[in-house]
Amino acid sequence: MLERIRIVLCETSHPGNIGAVARAMKTMGLGRLVLVNPKDYPSADATARASGADDVLATAEVVSNLDAALAGVSYAVGTSARLRRIPMPQLDPRESARQLVAEAATQEVAVLFGRERSGLSNAEIDRCHALVNIPANPDYQSLNLGAAAQVICYELRMAMLAATATSGTEEAVAHQPATGEHLESFFGHLEAALLEIGFLDPKQSQSMLRRLRRLFQRARPDDTEIHILRGILSRAQAAARKDPEAG
Ligand code: SAH
Repeated sequence: MLERIRIVLCETSHPGNIGAVARAMKTMGLGRLVLVNPKDYPSADATARASGADDVLATAEVVSNLDAALAGVSYAVGTSARLRRIPMPQLDPRESARQLVAEAATQEVAVLFGRERSGLSNAEIDRCHALVNIPANPDYQSLNLGAAAQVICYELRMAMLAATATSGTEEAVAHQPATGEHLESFFGHLEAALLEIGFLDPKQSQSMLRRLRRLFQRARPDDTEIHILRGILSRAQAAARKDPEAG
């Protein structure tokens, strides 16, 4: 199941950190590394810090945006050095690893790591279902990127070992949540439809859309449910076109 877990590094500045993450991953049995716009890569520093894990670097995907990094992913968590005032689940590494490993039994999942200086952007956090914080010294909470990845990968390994030990009793997972791409195109449709029927005020649309995004990310709709929701939106749009006063 660890092969369905990808580690995504967003705009890493120091190539040495990329190597350190590759090594952290390999020691814990993970292999899928995705680099979004790394500042300086490939690099001899990355290879040196990866030590014997240069195979993880060799197969790392370098992509230019988050959509590409999250292709096929239906559950993503973002790691953050500080707890943020955001209405979304905030988990510790152990809880999040349990959830990630359970999801990875049937689907692609991702763990996002932010920039050394500024962490993850709001747009990146918007793509996540939960935030993960390593509960560190409150006076000094920011771990080095490679060190943070090591903690998360260790917890993933422990969760995988625990899940394997109990896999005889594992229930079949019937629910298959839609991938991020399908959810994103639904959000695009939702925004267009809510503007068209006059529900959204263009001035406040971003905060409203962010709330709606959280609602659907919590609900984890599957493809059939997305199809139904989009059908409702299309009908509402058609009705508003026939009777512009109706909205
Ligand atoms: N100044 C940045 C810190 C970035 S550290 C900030 O305040 O967000 C670089 C990355 O390492 C973070 O984006 C996160 O992915 C990871 N990281 C560092 N410390 C962490 C912690 N205590 N818990 C979870 N992730 C952490």
